[in-house]
Amino acid sequence: MRDKMTGYRVTDIKQITHDTRQFTFPLPPGIGFDFRPGDHMKVYPDPGDPVEWRPYTPTTTPDIKDHFELVIKRYGDGMVSRYMHKRKEGDEVIMSGPHEGGHYMRGMAREIGMVAGGTGITPFISMIRTIMREGSDTKVSLLFANKSVEDIILKDEFDRYAAECANFERYYVVDKAPPGWDMGQGRITPELLREKLPAPSDQTVIFVCGPPMMQIEFRKHLLAFGHAKDKVIFP
Ligand SMILES: Cc1cc2nc3c(=O)[nH]c(=O)nc-3n(C[C@H](O)[C@H](O)[C@H](O)COP(=O)(O)OP(=O)(O)OC[C@H]3O[C@@H](n4cnc5c(N)ncnc54)[C@H](O)[C@@H]3O)c2cc1C
Repeated sequence: MRDKMTGYRVTDIKQITHDTRQFTFPLPPGIGFDFRPGDHMKVYPDPGDPVEWRPYTPTTTPDIKDHFELVIKRYGDGMVSRYMHKRKEGDEVIMSGPHEGGHYMRGMAREIGMVAGGTGITPFISMIRTIMREGSDTKVSLLFANKSVEDIILKDEFDRYAAECANFERYYVVDKAPPGWDMGQGRITPELLREKLPAPSDQTVIFVCGPPMMQIEFRKHLLAFGHAKDKVIFP
């Protein structure tokens, strides 16, 4: 059933950074849209071609049953992201899913580290919103790399959680830092991974999401620090 292609109508489109938009899709009652934070949809720009698709992660939380949202960054020559950014309110988008990825489950850990590069943040949006809504004391430490401050997706929302919630902290790293920037500049180094993420324990998991080379490199460092293989998760 989850592999079945279904048309979802876009009812709202919001520009959330200079190259990233949020798309809202209402869900008809009784459609049974069950997912866990971190799971993804497949978007098919051509319903006649079931092979050409890209995954996108709902950023809404599973308790919301009447709609879901996707946050999609446009790549200049990107086939599907460009297709999505050409959609207008009222257009239909063909998708299948939700499909299972490395996801968050309540009670899976007392401390959760999240390392994201660029749009690698998208699975963590639903996870963070879910954890903040649960009101549990699961501690979340987000380490988020971007080219510039303007590229940081949902920065205001993460800053608000950091100010209001004792169990959430975030640290941004940007290639180009503006004057007065008091967080990281350059790349996420092994030292930053060790300093900003929770220490290894059987009550700690680390999610990593970003470009494939970044994921491979960070996993290597995290395992060397002592995190168990099954505690380093890719959505
Ligand atoms: C499980 C999963 C969930 C994802 N969820 C989201 C999401 O919620 N929102 C979102 O915006 N993206 C998400 N992505 C990335 C998304 O699936 C596509 O890879 C991305 O939109 C580019 O697809 P495209 O067809 O536009 O570009 P393509 O036609 O595939 O590629 C065109 C150009 O873009 C470059 N490119 C492609 N992907 C990336 C990238 N990630 N970083 C840097 N350069 C890239 C390529 O090198 C190439 O030059 C997710 C990826 C995975 C694996």
